[in-house]
Amino acid sequence: MDTQTRWLVIAAVLLLGIHTVNGQQRARDMDHFITDLMAQMTIDEKIGQLNLVTAGEATTGAVVSTDVESKIKEGKIGGIFSMTSVPRIRAAQELAVNQSRLKIPILFGLDVIHGYKTIFPIPLGLAASWDMDLIQETARIAAIEASADGLNWTFSPMVDISRDARWGRISEGSGEDTYLSSRIAEAMVHGYQGDDLAADNTLMACVKHFALYGAAEAGRDYNTTDMSLHRMYNEYLPPYKAAIDAGAGSVMTSFNDINGVPATANKWLMTEVLRQQWGFDGFVVTDYTAVNELIEHGLGDLQEVSARSLKAGVEMDMVGEGFLTTLRKSLDEGKVSEADIDRACRLVLEAKYKLGLFEDPFRYCDESRAKQLIQHPTHMAKAREAAAKSFVLLKNEQQLLPLKKQGTVALIGPLANTGSNMPGTWSVSADLENTPSLLEGMRAALGDRVNLVYHQGSNLVADAAYQERATMFGRTIPRDERPEAEVIAEALEVAKQADVVIAALGESSEMSGEASSRTDIGIPAVQQRLLSELLKTGKPVVLVLFTGRPLTLIWENEHVPAILNVWFGGTETGKAVADVLFGDVNPSGKLPATFPQHVGQLPLYYSHKNTGRPLADGQWFQKFRSNYLDVSNDPLYPFGYGLSYTTFTYGKPVLNTDTLERKGSLQVSVEVSNSGSYAGEEVVQLYIRDLVGSVTRPVKELKGFRKIQLAAGQSQRVVFDITEEDLKFYNADLEHVAEAGEFAVFVGTNSRDVQEARFFLKD
Ligand code: BGC
Repeated sequence: MDTQTRWLVIAAVLLLGIHTVNGQQRARDMDHFITDLMAQMTIDEKIGQLNLVTAGEATTGAVVSTDVESKIKEGKIGGIFSMTSVPRIRAAQELAVNQSRLKIPILFGLDVIHGYKTIFPIPLGLAASWDMDLIQETARIAAIEASADGLNWTFSPMVDISRDARWGRISEGSGEDTYLSSRIAEAMVHGYQGDDLAADNTLMACVKHFALYGAAEAGRDYNTTDMSLHRMYNEYLPPYKAAIDAGAGSVMTSFNDINGVPATANKWLMTEVLRQQWGFDGFVVTDYTAVNELIEHGLGDLQEVSARSLKAGVEMDMVGEGFLTTLRKSLDEGKVSEADIDRACRLVLEAKYKLGLFEDPFRYCDESRAKQLIQHPTHMAKAREAAAKSFVLLKNEQQLLPLKKQGTVALIGPLANTGSNMPGTWSVSADLENTPSLLEGMRAALGDRVNLVYHQGSNLVADAAYQERATMFGRTIPRDERPEAEVIAEALEVAKQADVVIAALGESSEMSGEASSRTDIGIPAVQQRLLSELLKTGKPVVLVLFTGRPLTLIWENEHVPAILNVWFGGTETGKAVADVLFGDVNPSGKLPATFPQHVGQLPLYYSHKNTGRPLADGQWFQKFRSNYLDVSNDPLYPFGYGLSYTTFTYGKPVLNTDTLERKGSLQVSVEVSNSGSYAGEEVVQLYIRDLVGSVTRPVKELKGFRKIQLAAGQSQRVVFDITEEDLKFYNADLEHVAEAGEFAVFVGTNSRDVQEARFFLKD
């Protein structure tokens, strides 16, 4: 080490030391402050801190909170959610700090899931960008806007792995993969919380839904989960842990039953795993009335389930007021202890302290910030960029795309002119009235260079009652009650005037999301009939597909020349679709969840186990092998799949050594070339298979990815480091180990199209 380096190391160590000492001092100050405060609190005031009420701007259950004002004054409320805007929040905070006995400030939360007023793509779409910096920036912007409007807490990130596209909430998470979801969880927590929770532009994150909510049986929302510990630890729990390791201040319980004990009463999960194994030091809030729902689960009456939930390690009760109304009695009867209540109260107060609310309860209440920052042009520009980066090009026969900015383009379909559907599900604070539709956004982006003509073409679904269920919360799509043939005939007249037809079809925003499970995950039949008629005109047809989940698209894939999956892209969807269709942006999204051929294949995911009777590669049916009689095992589009207007060519993966030492590292490198004629971005993906283990291991697991940008004709060598850490898994005794032996490493453009090399991990 030269002298300069030595000094740098000494300086770094000193800084780290100062940082640690400062951190310890802050922790001591917080401890003293809260101990003093709690010494003044009555039991009822402590229980009051555990009560979270809703102001009702968005509700997801049958129960709504009442008497909020008087409860604030009586110290019976720790937090309020679904209340927005500085004047309302300031008024509620004033009641708390001026009129309650101990003047304890309130937490203000909201489901800020993919943006606040500037709405970004739905989380599944954001995941398709595979761009961690971008995802972090979207969370940062969401925090800047929401905190400017008075909020200090968001119920995000949602990191539930889901491998069953029937489940509507697959749209709210990052898809099927453990590794990708974990990286996204970290990026979002960092984006929301920044590096100072007490800053006036950060929000406290709440990782949800702990745990395994995405594995609901049959893809039916709120349904039971029964899962081996081995699968939990290896596949489903890591994204929650990643969010906690990134510093998430709070955790939300899930609604579901887990191996016989619903999450909200599950002591093993909330105490043993979360606190003892993972060292979580924030607080746990239930989901909406989840304590009360333990009664329906069959765990006892409200007093019983409230006590059980508190003792399990839950600190805050959302909306149901089981804690508020029964814990006192349970304390008197010895069913809970004062220490249980104190523990919970302390953790809630600590969160308020960390947010800086005791220092300044109005820290997040500056109206001028709201005016300046909400939908700031830089935020809107980022929304447009994020939307375009989330789109996945599924098919592009004979390079139909990109289109030329000229002539007449017909935009046809029930998703073409509905602004309220563009933000996608769980965008409660979106300004639906002022969100441009696809048609409006495209017109704004294209100006008069393209003559855009429009027709709705069909209803969303044929059945009016189904359409009503699928367009709740103001996400309207008008119905045309004339006979279907008449409506289609009119649309065909519009199509015939055009050089190209863009069919805007798929799901409405509320066909995915909470309590929006489906058994048929195709494009609704009425829209398919429209599509088939459009194709018969002989015009080139581009399907712009709206969806909150993987869909079954066998017929569309066979007949439509170009398919661009745009999920729900948020506020700037229309402009972003124009950017991509007309070639200003080259699509680079890759699927974060497998698209099956048929709903009957679900759950379908790339990182499955091999079975003892696997089907040979490239085969379909073989008797006495693991397969179906009627559909091959293949997905329609595999995990990680997505095309570009250019083509990328991969060289063979090269290893710098074929033996990895325990504490060493091994490099895999691959030459990637842009062999087409457009500049473009590519996500280079690295998968590993442990060929022999003490327990069965998946056929492939994502362990790294790199998003690179290449000009036409340019090449780049991409290098991945592999260490023992990447090879670790939880064995039958739940020890996190890497077992010596042979491994296959795969590099490629998606989980299917890969090239393989092999190496050994030494003993
Ligand atoms: C959802 C949560 C959400 C909560 C509060 C529940 O129905 O499951 O994800 O955070 O409502 O709005």
